[in-house]
Amino acid sequence: MIDLHLHTTASDGLLAPAALVARAAACGLSTISVTDHDTTAGLAEADEAARRQGIRLVSGVEITAIHEKRDVHMLAYFVDPSNAAFAGFLESQRRDRLRRVRQIADRLAALGCPIDDESLLADRKGRSVGRPLIADALIAAGRAVDRDDAFRRFLAEGAPAFVPRPGPRPETVIAVARQAGGVVSLAHPGLTKIDDLIPFLATAGLASLEVRHSDHDQATEDRYRQVAAQHGLAVSGGSDFHGDLGHRGAVLGQITISEQELADLESRRP
Ligand code: ZN
Ligand code: FE
Ligand code: FE
Repeated sequence: MIDLHLHTTASDGLLAPAALVARAAACGLSTISVTDHDTTAGLAEADEAARRQGIRLVSGVEITAIHEKRDVHMLAYFVDPSNAAFAGFLESQRRDRLRRVRQIADRLAALGCPIDDESLLADRKGRSVGRPLIADALIAAGRAVDRDDAFRRFLAEGAPAFVPRPGPRPETVIAVARQAGGVVSLAHPGLTKIDDLIPFLATAGLASLEVRHSDHDQATEDRYRQVAAQHGLAVSGGSDFHGDLGHRGAVLGQITISEQELADLESRRP
């Protein structure tokens, strides 16, 4: 069983890397990828834990690109986290995230819902911040009941504390990841809905579509499996598990891909 989309406390997941790996192994997963948002800070601990548990860890990261002001999540696999250009790229992504979190905190304060952003931002050391952590701070301040509630009322696009973010284009993310040995899969296309861009991204070096995902129903999965085949792309998949009380109804061990699919993905390493 293979799950290539998991989050830890290095970004907005609720389990530390070692705890997540232990849970994954206990669920029967044999290969996993830790794909935190714009950071590889969780990979070293996850790798050590995976060795202990006797399972395979594929290095990964989920990178936020922007297309026409909308977030486009892209999964980079098999990247070398020590590649200087790639590490520098992720660092600038995290700097943008920090700036945005401060802007959102200012908005929230102006709305009469201040959060403790200093303790939120303290001590992140290469771990990334984002709106889910602001949501957690809003919950702690008694302003929201859960992450979904916080997004709906304050943080989602169109909500009062929403701040747009800058970001690289998807094709830039593909180029930066490829020069670090990475293979890029378009994350949860059923949520991102940029189907018209897929042919162009395929010519720009996109290797795969994340066909299997907790938020894809059977029809969505079937559709993207077909789109992948049409453009000669591999198929990736994973639960997008953020912890039992994470912001999605993802269950560990439920969304997996086959060894054959992983082998196809891996064969596309540059
Ligand atoms: Zn997340
Ligand atoms: Fe995502
Ligand atoms: Fe994710």
